[in-house]
Amino acid sequence: MSSTVEQVIQSPDKDAVGGTATYCVGCGSCAYLDPAFNIAKSADGCYQASIQGSIANEDAVNSACPFASSINEDVLGAELFSEQADIHHDQYLGYWLNAYVGYTSADGWRSRGSSGGMVSWLASKMLEDGLVDAVIHVKDGPDPEHMYTYQVSHNVDELKTGAKSKYYPVEMSEVLSYVHEHDGKYLFIGIPCFVKAVRLLCRQDEVLNKRIRYCIGLVCGHLKSDFFAKSEAWESGVPLDNIARVDFRHKTPGSPASDYAVEVRLTDGEKPVIKRTAELSTTNWGLGYFKYNACDYCDDVLAETADVTFGDAWIPKYVNDGEGCNVIVVRNQEVQNLFDRHRSELVLHDSDSAEVYQSQAGGFRHRRQGLAYRLYVHEQRGEWTPTKRVKPSLDGVSDRRQKTYAMRTVLKNESFAAFREAVKANDFNEFKKHMKPIEHSYRRVSTSPKKRIIRACKRIFKRVLPAGAVSRIKNLMGGGRS
Ligand SMILES: Cc1cc2nc3c(=O)[nH]c(=O)nc-3n(C[C@H](O)[C@H](O)[C@H](O)COP(=O)(O)OP(=O)(O)OC[C@H]3O[C@@H](n4cnc5c(N)ncnc54)[C@H](O)[C@@H]3O)c2cc1C
Repeated sequence: MSSTVEQVIQSPDKDAVGGTATYCVGCGSCAYLDPAFNIAKSADGCYQASIQGSIANEDAVNSACPFASSINEDVLGAELFSEQADIHHDQYLGYWLNAYVGYTSADGWRSRGSSGGMVSWLASKMLEDGLVDAVIHVKDGPDPEHMYTYQVSHNVDELKTGAKSKYYPVEMSEVLSYVHEHDGKYLFIGIPCFVKAVRLLCRQDEVLNKRIRYCIGLVCGHLKSDFFAKSEAWESGVPLDNIARVDFRHKTPGSPASDYAVEVRLTDGEKPVIKRTAELSTTNWGLGYFKYNACDYCDDVLAETADVTFGDAWIPKYVNDGEGCNVIVVRNQEVQNLFDRHRSELVLHDSDSAEVYQSQAGGFRHRRQGLAYRLYVHEQRGEWTPTKRVKPSLDGVSDRRQKTYAMRTVLKNESFAAFREAVKANDFNEFKKHMKPIEHSYRRVSTSPKKRIIRACKRIFKRVLPAGAVSRIKNLMGGGRS
């Protein structure tokens, strides 16, 4: 069933618990195609499209929007990868040739990167080997309200300055216009919905199709509003008007890879502030604070339309290596050939679909079973939602899980309201005060009585054990992003 961008931008219906629904992720594919669309930050710090005037080519815009197009990741994946020898297909990984866990040992890429540094390393090799002339990725932006933006790097030095994950709103209409105006071979790096949008655009835009030669995908839990960066910095002790930029993935040597810090750079030029994310109240990804609504209606965790995807290998075997390891899914034989050519710069362990799934199990539960539940709720209310590969259903969704998913929508919605209240009161404690009872109800709903007892014991241990020890124990027991 085909949908329209107008439905995506402003659904007349409500979200799963009655909030305003928008399914737009602000990627900018519509604005690239048609000047009637404008991408701007909403009051909630999320990029969103809006329409001013009449749309020139509705069909083109509708079929390039990752939440409106009727062409899903399975169709795109089949077009791109299915003809290759020895290709496998999996409902979670999409098409895949090989899976690995590993990192690069070359030239400081690992210490500069978020995980194993493989994304930047691969991009540098593509440049050096002449596979591409330039890389489209996310780098430092011009000011604190635009901490990070999509830009083009033309050489390895420029690439270096763009390493690390930006849990921050970005859009790509301007950078795509640049590609349209400048000949060359490009590599695009993005989260799953952005890569899907690029693939959809390439199906109808000959210039982009010729120029964007490869896509690297980043595994995605969800996209964050800019409230996330602001709240992390503010809770770390930096007033809102003194935040220059937030490094979301500051590595802390000696602790597990999942136990990282943020580094907040200040506008007054004083020394940056570093704070472990475990000590901040907004950084538990399972709670989904400041999450784009659209992300709850996405079923692609592993960027299935990318030539290769990289994520964090936060699984017991690897998480204790604080330098960071990537989980890697290769879909394009040319990328595999590049890995093989430069194998001496890589430390790769063979992996498989089960291990890759395990590294993202929480994300898959939320975006497969949880999505089926959310779609079912909308369907029962007769409401429009984007058409997904996952179908509306309560099959196998226990009462507890239903309540858990419903509460996550409440947590997401309330986090925005709570942050706005804190800003109004000029006191971050207002945020904590607002969220504490909601988080408490969520934990009661989502946790079995047995688990609650175990958690209470852990809290007691935490008080008596040295910093970092509890997360090390948690990782040994198979914890991670939930
Ligand atoms: C919003 C978001 C959510 C994520 N969620 C998960 C998750 O749930 N589970 C998981 O395992 N991994 C997740 N990741 C991926 C993970 O954080 C690392 O990016 C990945 O492991 C690659 O690490 P690296 O060291 O190889 O990359 P690096 O060498 O650090 O290079 C990262 C590259 O990605 C580009 N980049 C950074 N942020 C963005 C962005 N927002 N959009 C487009 N390009 C960007 C940079 O410009 C750089 O080129 C997420 C990433 C993002 C941006």
